[in-house]
Amino acid sequence: MKYLDEFRDPVLARHLLDEIDQTVTRPWAIMEVCGGQTHSIIRHGIDQLLPEGVEFIHGPGCPVCVTPLEMIDQALEIAARPEVVFCSFGDMLRVPGSRHDLFQVRARGGDVRVVYSPLDAVRLAEANPEREVVFFAVGFETTAPPNAMAVVLARRLGLRNFSMLVSHVLVPPAMTAILDSPTCRVQGFLAAGHVCTVMGTSEYVPIVERYDVPVVVTGFEPLDILDGVRRVVHQLEDGEARLENAYARAVTAEGNRAAQAVIADVFEVCDRSWRGIGVIPQSGFRLSERYREFDAGIRFGVDGISVEESPLCRAGEVLQGLIKPHQCEAFGTACTPRTPLGATMVSSEGACAAYYHFRRLTIPVEVTSRG
Ligand code: SF4
Repeated sequence: MKYLDEFRDPVLARHLLDEIDQTVTRPWAIMEVCGGQTHSIIRHGIDQLLPEGVEFIHGPGCPVCVTPLEMIDQALEIAARPEVVFCSFGDMLRVPGSRHDLFQVRARGGDVRVVYSPLDAVRLAEANPEREVVFFAVGFETTAPPNAMAVVLARRLGLRNFSMLVSHVLVPPAMTAILDSPTCRVQGFLAAGHVCTVMGTSEYVPIVERYDVPVVVTGFEPLDILDGVRRVVHQLEDGEARLENAYARAVTAEGNRAAQAVIADVFEVCDRSWRGIGVIPQSGFRLSERYREFDAGIRFGVDGISVEESPLCRAGEVLQGLIKPHQCEAFGTACTPRTPLGATMVSSEGACAAYYHFRRLTIPVEVTSRG
C-alpha cells in the first residue's frame, strides 16, 4: 500500500535500529509529542527495540486527553438542554466530566450525536432550524482549519442556530511549558508531523534556540519514528541542537497558508487550561471577536463553570512524561477503558489506552535521572 507498507519495512527498520545502536553511547530521553506517535510506538514495540537507555517520554499531544474538565462539564450542561443537538467526535462521549459523561447525558434523553466532520453539524443546523446545534471543537492546530471553515460556512448560510464550544490547544506552548518545568527530563523532541503540515516548522526555531534542544518533525509510521529517533540521537551525541524535518513528504517550512489564513480569521490565541496540567499561557484558540456570536459558552451561559480534578487520576503526570501509565495505581484495576477515571484511558490517542490495549500492564520501567 503506497505510503504505508514502505514505512513498515522490517529490513529498513533493522538498518535504522543498527545505526541508532552504533550511535548511542549513553542514555537519552526523547519525547514524542503526539498521541498518535505514542500509539505507533507501543503498538509496534518500537520502545522495546531501541538500545537500552534510550527512553520515550510520552507527550501531551492527545486532544481528547488534554481537554480540561471544566470544558467537559460545560459540554455536559449544554448537551442536557432539550432544545440542543450536541455534536461531537466519538472519542469525547466517554470522557468523564466531574460527575458523568456525554453517553450518560444521551441515556437520560439528551440529543447527543457523533459526527465525522464539523461540516456535518452545520448541515444539521441548516436542516433543523428549530433546534440549537452545538459542535464541540477540540483538537490541536490540525483540526482548527475545518472547524474554522464550519463557522465561516455557518455565517455564509446565515445560520442563527449553530454554535461551537471551542477548546483548541496549541503544541509549541505545551513544549515550552514542559521544558520550563523543573522536573523536565526531555532531551530531544519528535514533533508532531500533522500539526506541522498546517503550521509549518518555523514555530520550533525559537524553542530549539532558547532551550538548546533538538526537534525533529516526525511522521507516524514505524520507520518515520525510527528515523526521527536516529536524527535526534545523532544530534544529542554530537552535542548539537537543530530543527530537522523528517516528514518532508507532508511538511514544508511555511505550512498550509490557506489553512493558517482561515484560522487567523476565525480564532484568536488565548490562555488555555490543560486537563491534569493546568493553565498554559497563550496555548489555545478561542473564537475571535468577529465570530463571538457563534460561541456556545457565551450563548448558553456556561463560561463560568470551574471544577477540581479527581485526586485518583495521575493523567497530568502521564501527559508530562513524569510517570508511565502503568505506574498509576488505578491502571488496569479501578481504571480501564470500560471504567475510565481519566481521559488518557478513553482516547484513541491516549497513552493509558495505548498501554492497556497493547498489554503493557506490568513491564517495569526504570526511571533514571539524566543530565
Ligand atoms: S490509568 Fe486511569 S486513573 Fe491512571 S492516569 Fe491513566 S487515566 Fe488516570
